[in-house]
Amino acid sequence: MSSMSATSAIAPTLNTQSALVLFSGGQDSTTCLAWALSRYQRVETIGFDYGQRHAIELEVRPALLEKMKGFSADWQVRLGEDHMIDLSLIGKISDTALTRDVEITMQDNGLPNTFVPGRNLLFMTVAATLAYRRGLNVLVGGMCETDFSGYPDCRDDTMKALQVALNLGMATQLKVETPLMWIDKAQTWALAESLGGQALVDLIRADTHTCYLGERGQLHDWGHGCGTCPACQLRARGYEQYVQDVQNTASKKIG
Ligand SMILES: [Zn+2]
Repeated sequence: MSSMSATSAIAPTLNTQSALVLFSGGQDSTTCLAWALSRYQRVETIGFDYGQRHAIELEVRPALLEKMKGFSADWQVRLGEDHMIDLSLIGKISDTALTRDVEITMQDNGLPNTFVPGRNLLFMTVAATLAYRRGLNVLVGGMCETDFSGYPDCRDDTMKALQVALNLGMATQLKVETPLMWIDKAQTWALAESLGGQALVDLIRADTHTCYLGERGQLHDWGHGCGTCPACQLRARGYEQYVQDVQNTASKKIG
């Protein structure tokens, strides 16, 4: 009787709402997809081709989606259509290190030149438009304020304001969910483990793409990538911390 609350805290009840996940093929969005698949009975995915240098992340998506379906009979049924949207205009109207072959540097305004102005605002707006047509009522994104690069469009306030603006502008009741907003990279790995066990951690390690320079190269402990760009460093540090946390927990149990 009293154990019910403990059980429900571990296994979230399946929500009758349906979700559209912003899915790039990276670590964060793959974890968000697993999070959505464990909560909503129908889940679709959206990806954007905006002329990113790391377009390889778009190439890993189809195989990754197939493997996510293979995780369980439930996920197989829940994971629906994938939508790839051409947003190449972002590359045409902005000048950033993610869309041009220039060195990654810090700008005078305190933001790295990997910041693509308006990117997440545009992504969410386009996702909301698609969700409207598809009858999906939750938008899920991997925005994170904890160890981000200072990108203002990853802030919780930005996403909250955008949710209000979208619903006002479209007369909808869309919900914007950002499950990674207040956790760091190590906790993101731990979240993946809690959702899909070691198998999901291994899948994310080997099959997702994070490197800004689009390099696959050798498989490191933390995954593929150049190992030196800010995205690779963040991912590698997070993985090391996660492994350390797991070991500390294990030794505490033994002790
Ligand atoms: Zn890299």
